Amino acid sequence: MIKKLYNTNTLEKSELIQVIKDNMDSLDPKLLHYAAKTREKYYGKKVFFRGLIEVSNYCKNDCLYCGIRRDNDKVKRYRLSKEEILNSCKVGYKLGFRTFVLQGGEDGYYTDEIMVDIISTIKNSYPDCAITLSLGEKSYETYKKYFEAGADRYLLRHESATVEHYNKLHPSNMEFEHRKDCLYNLKDVGFQVGAGFMVGSPYQSIENMAEDLLFLKELNPHMVGIGPFIPHKDTVFAKEKAGTVHMTLLMLALTRLLLPKSLLPATTALGSIDPKGREKALRIGANVIMPNLSPVDNRKNYALYDNKLSTDSEAAESVNSISKSIREFGFVPDFSRGDYIHWKR
Ligand code: SAM
Repeated sequence: MIKKLYNTNTLEKSELIQVIKDNMDSLDPKLLHYAAKTREKYYGKKVFFRGLIEVSNYCKNDCLYCGIRRDNDKVKRYRLSKEEILNSCKVGYKLGFRTFVLQGGEDGYYTDEIMVDIISTIKNSYPDCAITLSLGEKSYETYKKYFEAGADRYLLRHESATVEHYNKLHPSNMEFEHRKDCLYNLKDVGFQVGAGFMVGSPYQSIENMAEDLLFLKELNPHMVGIGPFIPHKDTVFAKEKAGTVHMTLLMLALTRLLLPKSLLPATTALGSIDPKGREKALRIGANVIMPNLSPVDNRKNYALYDNKLSTDSEAAESVNSISKSIREFGFVPDFSRGDYIHWKR
């Protein structure tokens, strides 16, 4: 079945479920081999760097799993000003980054006018850089304004493609159908789009994971963010178990085979539960890393889950030592924009 997946880049739902079951205890070496080979076919040994700027931890949403959910009153809230965001870009540019990822909670402070001003100022200051946004669900018109202002990419994980499961992770005012519409709107506007999900989130079944993979195949995004769920002490899911490294690697490998050209980050969440997590992810087909470029004082307050890394191996200022370890793993750090293969705006 793995050979079939490698050759055809697709499987039926029942086959995917079977592959997941077959690899629950240990990963078939064939999976590792074909996933790595597929990544190499399109992107070689390159690992693309993105500088992550966590612009705000204010959020109007109350996702049950998330440490910065609206109802968590223990969070020290912050938002970065335009000047602070530009300063992070300046620091990042000097360090060599050519993609800036602006991520944050759904914070009403950033009106379209404010965001468009921030995006166009970054673009004018650094025309050779890509701007990625990850600011949640917005209207078609807003996405279009962001794009026209110069944003290139947008990350919006679908979180779960099974409605019943999605509803167990989110309050009743949030709907999978709406998130899905946003993802298709983003593609329509012209963004390079990223979807994705957490592995091992509460109530997630094998079937749910197969649905997530099939949804990804249908959407055909350019990027896929897959990391383990990790509980946060001040959320509804404080006492739930974290997702495992093993299952996260399995989902990454299957995604690489289903979407051969995708850009797949070795996520901070994976690095946070296993010091070797990033290396393992790169070996199984991941090809992006996103070190933290936020102002150092704010990082601890963007705590999506407990013990989230933001220093050392996850910090942009450690870029030299991160590059060194990537070379030691046998990969090639790449500081270009790192667009989706053959991408033209
Ligand atoms: N507000 C934007 C959005 O909705 O896409 C971006 C910020 S949101 C905090 C970024 C991602 O963090 C989510 O898509 C979710 O998958 C992940 N996340 C949140 N809480 C998490 C947790 N407890 N464990 C692992 N990942 C988590």
